Amino acid sequence: MIYRPYGAAGVQLSAIGFGGMRFLDQNDVDACAALVHAAYEHGINYFDTASGYGRSEELFGVAFKEMQKQRGLKPFYVSSKTSAGNADDIRRDLETSLQRMGLNQIDFYHVWCVMTKEDYLTRQHKGVLKTFEQLQREGLVRHICVSSHMTGAEIEWMLGDYPFAGILLGYSAMNFAYRDQGISAAAALQRGVVIMNPLGGGIIPQHPQRFDFVRTRPDETVVQGALRFLINDARITTALVGFSTIDQIKEAVSAVDGFEPLTAAAVQKIRGHLQDAFDQMCTGCGYCDHCPEGVPVPKMMDSYNQFLLSSNTSSIPDRLAWHWGIGRRSDVHDLCTECGLCEELCTQKLPIRARLREIKTIVHSQLNK
Ligand code: SF4
Ligand code: SF4
Repeated sequence: MIYRPYGAAGVQLSAIGFGGMRFLDQNDVDACAALVHAAYEHGINYFDTASGYGRSEELFGVAFKEMQKQRGLKPFYVSSKTSAGNADDIRRDLETSLQRMGLNQIDFYHVWCVMTKEDYLTRQHKGVLKTFEQLQREGLVRHICVSSHMTGAEIEWMLGDYPFAGILLGYSAMNFAYRDQGISAAAALQRGVVIMNPLGGGIIPQHPQRFDFVRTRPDETVVQGALRFLINDARITTALVGFSTIDQIKEAVSAVDGFEPLTAAAVQKIRGHLQDAFDQMCTGCGYCDHCPEGVPVPKMMDSYNQFLLSSNTSSIPDRLAWHWGIGRRSDVHDLCTECGLCEELCTQKLPIRARLREIKTIVHSQLNK
């Protein structure tokens, strides 16, 4: 395992972290705890969970009980989150997380899932950041962090506005263009960068042929190639992988064991292939994001990407709801007046209006099921 500094926080995190939202069977407490423990034994020292991940915190708590015995010699760090918007609810969420995990302090506590600038400003106005600071003074929170699905430019703005110790954000071989600016800003400001969804929400391992170009060695899997491609990026502290089995842990850990940086030519080659692979796909560049009606075009097109890759219509409403917070009943689907501005601006020259119509039909058809 290799370890990297989390911004200026003074801690070294494993380049692969444990994302706690993909346990195979949350009712099998012993198996889940054993999985967490196995990751720790393999050198993983960053464990990410949230009060909203079902029994995840409780399962981590069972594993931590045993791991605490070694923590002095072999440190590990815990990340959790709250999207609560007032002091009482934030404190209640934090206390619940601490109690479930048997901890006195959360190392990295996140203002969870900031979707837009307005969302951030609203939370700030409601005193969310002040509450986090109070909890930090009380010693219940070690570092104040944020998780976000905003564009790179918005992330840069937010990190300039508040000294978060680090950021958790979705980034993968699929969407690096969308967030690149935010990652550069975080690195320049010495903030930690933890990546969620490094395997594109499972799309990369599910389409090994399509993503074969991320492999730079004959003996590596597409998963290892994708992880190496990300870890090769010195701006990134840790890539979180949602583990379900010990074999997955071994596969991810072996991607970084004995890691040797990719050559500039190999990185360039992969980036070039990504360009080809995404010919009909939204690259997330954000140039179209000026809809006069407020349609979040990059988010809608990102969701359509999932459909192109998976050929599964459910992937569109799922992506919109779980990744972008746009529920099936959102009025977003009724806003487009077909003015065509976004298509004029689109760098990929995508048929955005037709795709929006298609998305609307799919989402509405699922409402009636
Ligand atoms: S075509 Fe629709 S989504 Fe695109 S800019 Fe016009 S109103 Fe917005
Ligand atoms: S301009 Fe085109 S490729 Fe870029 S984010 Fe918008 S839809 Fe996607």
